[in-house]
Amino acid sequence: MNSADTLNYIEGTLRPSRSGETFEKISPVNGQVLSRVARSNADDVRDAVAVARRAFPGWAALPGVQRGQTLHRLVRVMQDRQAETAAIVAAESGKSAKDAAGEAAGAAALGLFFAGEGQRLYGRTTTSSVANRRAMTIRQPIGVAGLIVPANTPIANVAWKAFPALVCGNAVVLKSAEDTPGTAALFAEMSHQAGLPEGVFNVVHGLGREAGAALVEHPDVGVISFTGSTAVGREIQRVAGVRLARVSLELGGKNPFVVCDDADLDEAVRWAVLSAFSNAGQRCASGSRIIVFASVADEFRSRLVEATLKLRVGSADQDDFGPVINQRQMDAILHGVDEARQSGARILTGGRRAKSGQLAHGFYIEPTLVDTLAADHPVSHQELFGPVATLYTVSGFAEALAMANDSPYGLTACIHTRNLDRALAFVERVEAGVAIVNGGTFGSEPHMPFGGVKQSGNGTREPGTEALDVYSSLKDVYLNLDDRRL
Ligand code: NAD
Repeated sequence: MNSADTLNYIEGTLRPSRSGETFEKISPVNGQVLSRVARSNADDVRDAVAVARRAFPGWAALPGVQRGQTLHRLVRVMQDRQAETAAIVAAESGKSAKDAAGEAAGAAALGLFFAGEGQRLYGRTTTSSVANRRAMTIRQPIGVAGLIVPANTPIANVAWKAFPALVCGNAVVLKSAEDTPGTAALFAEMSHQAGLPEGVFNVVHGLGREAGAALVEHPDVGVISFTGSTAVGREIQRVAGVRLARVSLELGGKNPFVVCDDADLDEAVRWAVLSAFSNAGQRCASGSRIIVFASVADEFRSRLVEATLKLRVGSADQDDFGPVINQRQMDAILHGVDEARQSGARILTGGRRAKSGQLAHGFYIEPTLVDTLAADHPVSHQELFGPVATLYTVSGFAEALAMANDSPYGLTACIHTRNLDRALAFVERVEAGVAIVNGGTFGSEPHMPFGGVKQSGNGTREPGTEALDVYSSLKDVYLNLDDRRL
């Protein structure tokens, strides 16, 4: 047993796990141990939830404006410590310093939006069927919010959930992602520096099936917000459903990127490359199914291959994308590519681990384009969460739309066309939570409600003001006036 470098943060103090156990965080850049992390179990989760429960009433009793002011201070701390945040994000994820800095700035921007919500937190006033009665709704916090995040955009994922949960007046227990615990620990430190009252924001590190599952099972956790794989989301829904806890699930995607015969092919290629490969394809929103009209398929394919071959894999600022997060992910992605290869698909680019020079020590995969896989092949439906995209050829719009919708998922979808009729029909008929015309399959802006349909989620939306519906309950209030007492 070795002592942890990355400790739990409970009631404003840093604590090892009760068992003293740790796990190793491995650098995706070189396969070496980066840190030893507290391996929490149900005992640590119980401690954190008890602390959050005690802290909740005081935090909830503060006016929303004052909670927002504290969160504004947290945003300022995040901005002041952006370089440090980016350095930890880059070390834990292997993304370049430039990309990590962009992510850290985005996380602060999201925080700014929700800090401002402290001045609104609108309910509504409305009419009543009864004379002298006023009807209105007010927002109330739920209690303890259990937040569970993945590692793909480490600081953004934490901010995405912590800010709306806190501004609504909840106390938080965050289960960090195994692969990015240091980022969550830094966020906790920044919350402390900003003056968030002790116990209002807590972090436990640990494995999903241990610490994560214990958080989901805990009877005092009133809302669970989870971002991660569909398989784990389904299990969380099942367990939390027993006690009817509120659950928000932001899950996977296998997102279609449609290129019509009237598309600006240069733009379509540029966006297809970004959609498929940015962040090494570790994006729920990534454009992993590229669906092309037959009449432009040859031209588009050769331009796409040319652009893909120019991509640089590595963790420096001049590189296009870094490693995938761990060995298990890398093996699973390459296994998926092998399955496609064995079924007769052509691997147009990549398909292997990137091994030149220093890359051989890390979990880097070459940008991979797979040409034409049967629509019903398992890999056509399975999210690989890596730098892999598959090309499909279709005869026209109707087939493109049918193929776009032929997926268990429904998160993002994009079409490239200059035809308004096609664009409008696509955004209205595609089964997705986010539809994009002439751009990339990129996720949300802080004020927009992101989320999916079908197996990409359970219908909730975060962020945007819609996230307030996840983290607060509406209470109907009726005020009856009595004229006789005037
Ligand atoms: P994952 O589901 O394996 O893990 C996500 C988190 O859940 C981790 O913190 C993990 O420890 C925890 N966890 C695992 N098992 C658990 C259990 N039984 N109970 C409670 N917690 C548990 O996902 P991942 O591989 O880390 O992340 C990639 C997935 O996340 C992809 O499917 C991706 O599409 C999805 N994702 C979705 C969004 C979105 O907004 N829709 C955003 C980013 C990532």
